[in-house]
Amino acid sequence: MGKRWLGLLAAGLLAVGVLLPAAPAMAAPTFKVPFPCGQSWSGQTRTGHSPAYAVDFNRTDDLGDPVVASAPGTVDRVTDLGGTSYGKYVRISHAGGYHTYYAHLNGFNVSVGQSVGYGKVIGWVGSTGGSSGPHLHYEQRLNGADIQVRFNGALALYWGTRNYTSDNGCGSSAGSGTVNTSGTPLTVRSGPGTGYAAVGTVADGAKVTIQCQTSGTSVTGTYGTSTIWDRIGAGRFIADAYVYTGSDGYIPGVPRC
Ligand SMILES: [Zn+2]
Repeated sequence: MGKRWLGLLAAGLLAVGVLLPAAPAMAAPTFKVPFPCGQSWSGQTRTGHSPAYAVDFNRTDDLGDPVVASAPGTVDRVTDLGGTSYGKYVRISHAGGYHTYYAHLNGFNVSVGQSVGYGKVIGWVGSTGGSSGPHLHYEQRLNGADIQVRFNGALALYWGTRNYTSDNGCGSSAGSGTVNTSGTPLTVRSGPGTGYAAVGTVADGAKVTIQCQTSGTSVTGTYGTSTIWDRIGAGRFIADAYVYTGSDGYIPGVPRC
C-alpha cells in the first residue's frame, strides 16, 4: 500500500515537472468595461440572473450604441440564436482560458477568427433573443465556468446596480518596438514563454506593434533579463528582453494581455 502510494506520488510529481514548462500559469487579462472610453453605464447583477454572475448594462437611449471588446483576444463565436436565449451574441477567447460574452446584440461588427484589442467595436446594443428591452448582457468565464465580473481587477457589485465608467481604449493602446538580437532572427512563440511552441520568427531590426504585454518565463537578451513578453499578433509573443521599446519594464499606456 505505502509503496504503491509513493509510486503514484512520484508519477504525479514527474507529470507536474514535465507539464509546468509547457504551460506556464497566466494571470487573468485586464478586463475593461465593454463600452467606449469615457462612457458611463449602469450595470446590474441579480441572484435570479442566468448565469448568476452576468451583468446587464443599460443607459438612456442605448439601442444601437457600440459595444467594444473587454480585453485583447480572438473572436471565436458570432452566433444568432434567433428569438431565444442570447439572441445575437459574440464570444471572445482571451489568454489563460478566459472568455467574454456579449449578448442580445442588434448587429455584429466582427467575424470568427478576428483578432481584437481594447476599444474594438464588436457589435451594437440590441434586444435580440430572450430580452424584453435593449441592454447588453455581459459575462466573463474561466474554462467555461461563469465567474464574478472584474474590471481592471476590481470586483463588480454583487448584488445590485451601480455605474461603471469605461477606460477601455483610452489613448493609444498599442506600443511599438524594434527587435535587437545582434543578427539572429527572434523566435515568435504561441504564448508568453520559452515552453510555448515556436510559430515563426521576426528579423533583427524589425519594427513590431505591441498589442499588449504580459508576464511569462524569464529571458536574458540584449536588454538584460526580463519576464515580460510582448504580444505582436493573435497567438504571437516575443521576449521583451530582445525588443527596444524605450521603457525599462512595461510600456506606459500599453495594456496587460
Ligand atoms: Zn442578462
